[in-house]
Amino acid sequence: MAKHKFQTEVSRLLHLIVHSLYSHPEVFLRELISNASDALDRLKYLTLTDEQYKGFPFVPRIDIAFAEGQGGGHGTLSVTDTGIGMNAEELSQNLGTIASSGTHTFLESMSGDARKDSSLIGQFGVGFYSAFMVADRVEVLSRKAGEDKGYRWSSDGQGEFEIDEAQEVPSGTTVTLHLNERGKEFAGRWQIESLVRKYSNHIQFPIYLHYEELASEGEEDKKEERREKKVEQVNSASALWRRAKNEITDEEYREFYKTVTHDTEDPLHFMHTRAEGALEYTTLLYIPRKAPPDLFWVNYRPGVKLYVKRVFITDDEKELLPTYLRFVHGIIDSEDLPLNVSREMLQENQVLKNIRTATVKRILGELDKMAKNTPEAYREFYGEFGVCLKEGVYQDFANRESLLELLRYRSTTEEGLTSLAGYLERKPEEQKAIYYITGGDEHKLRSSPLLESYRRKGIEVLIMDHEIDELVAPAIGRYKDLELKAVNRSGSTRDLETEADKEQQEAIRPLLDRLKGMLGDLVKDVRASTRLTDSPSCIVADDEDPTLHMQSMLKALGQKDLAAIKPVLEINPGHEIVKKLEAADNDELVADIGRLLFEQALIVEGAELADPAEFARRLNRVMARAL
Ligand code: ADP
Ligand code: MG
Repeated sequence: MAKHKFQTEVSRLLHLIVHSLYSHPEVFLRELISNASDALDRLKYLTLTDEQYKGFPFVPRIDIAFAEGQGGGHGTLSVTDTGIGMNAEELSQNLGTIASSGTHTFLESMSGDARKDSSLIGQFGVGFYSAFMVADRVEVLSRKAGEDKGYRWSSDGQGEFEIDEAQEVPSGTTVTLHLNERGKEFAGRWQIESLVRKYSNHIQFPIYLHYEELASEGEEDKKEERREKKVEQVNSASALWRRAKNEITDEEYREFYKTVTHDTEDPLHFMHTRAEGALEYTTLLYIPRKAPPDLFWVNYRPGVKLYVKRVFITDDEKELLPTYLRFVHGIIDSEDLPLNVSREMLQENQVLKNIRTATVKRILGELDKMAKNTPEAYREFYGEFGVCLKEGVYQDFANRESLLELLRYRSTTEEGLTSLAGYLERKPEEQKAIYYITGGDEHKLRSSPLLESYRRKGIEVLIMDHEIDELVAPAIGRYKDLELKAVNRSGSTRDLETEADKEQQEAIRPLLDRLKGMLGDLVKDVRASTRLTDSPSCIVADDEDPTLHMQSMLKALGQKDLAAIKPVLEINPGHEIVKKLEAADNDELVADIGRLLFEQALIVEGAELADPAEFARRLNRVMARAL
């Protein structure tokens, strides 16, 4: 008997599964069937493409059997497939370690206060272990297709597993669960049938359920009862996406979504298309209701599976759709690709490129329809995946126009979210730009002094409160004929300036020069502001310079030469402090106050002061004087 220890992460995972995941223990069956189906897919593929397997007697099927408990046991449940199977090494590797690099993060998120939701299990590629939610011992009998020796893997999920050679193991795999207290309810015909219908109806291979039925025979008076063994196919086993649209119910579409994504919630939206003509292919694509936890990880799991003539090819090809559409799930089934298409070929393949181009257009078109016809659903979508569309704006130049129509922002004048088109409709004829503010959360942005004059003049400003907006907004550049202008840039008020503003600027020129001399190279320039009403000062970025917020992002990314970038200080000519400052002749006091005007503007922007202690001393000097 060969004993092995589970990899530490597996032990932690098993501990979690057994002790914390209670929400949907039934998903274990979906996971086992999905593994069986994968194993059948892999063997089917080999029999179609690999010379060695050409003559292999392949009869794909999945069999489920259960036995009720005897002598204190809670019964057993087994899932058998005639798929690829595993040899000793693979049993140890596949069922003793976790290859997926996301697992560590998964464990972290599961062990904190985060929702302990077993629906996440499948999404993280740790589905097999969910068997331990309902079993206190799991046995796997397996023989790899084309090999002679069979093996038994078994474990009670407590840190160790055993692998032994076993006799007369049929080609394929049988997973047997010795059900625990929680699992005993699953050892029944109706329970299993309804779970298979719910989660695995569209598995492409037939799933048979073995059960016993009480049958009676003979005359009324000497009736004999005996148990008859029966087998019944419990799934529809057809490739749903190949059926005609009008023959598929919404319910079936939703179920199919759950089988391919392991999501327990219904999808938000789906689209089913068949293309005929130069290229023949079918797509069935879904948008989930909730963003998966790995949406913003570099090694996210792609959601689209590739089939060729209904044969599963891969679910690990990130190039099927552009990265920004990684939230889309479903399948693409092509009639024009060869079955033995390799990964390298996939990425260069013109057929696939064309399918991809058309599919992206279709998805964006569908989103546009959603935005117009069901704004409520679109809002929900945007809340979860809007950031991805923003990524699209700078990734996908070819679809830029459509993407811009799909963007939504908060605004200083509107409730909820607005589109750029909505902004355009509302703005007065003579306004020649779209104004926006970035650099923090919504609350901070709404109370920024930079908005004062826009508010006074009744000009709408878009509140771009996501980090990515800092990069995306400049990438948008223009919408229709209008330039997008950041209100925290020096040039954004120029086209709003009146003659009176210009006169006022000239009038305080001496003060501006005096302050500039005193502040030295802390600032790039000191200017009279036309954007302030209540505040005495603000800082903005010069037109070509990155904003403060962008600078801190660049710094975090390791960029070094940022120290040379200085902000522009703007002061409010109409403010009481500034007026009194013009008349002041005490140089030391003017220097202190000038410096404080600069520092308070930095604080309001959320920037760090270079020397907070010096700031406090300065403030104290001025306060002492004021009393
Ligand atoms: P995933 O299916 O996402 O890879 P699982 O935890 O469900 O993760 O399964 C782990 C691995 O164990 C699978 O990738 C597969 O290699 C192997 N495996 C599980 N069940 C079977 C089976 N019935 N036949 C062949 N291999 C299997
Ligand atoms: Mg699995």
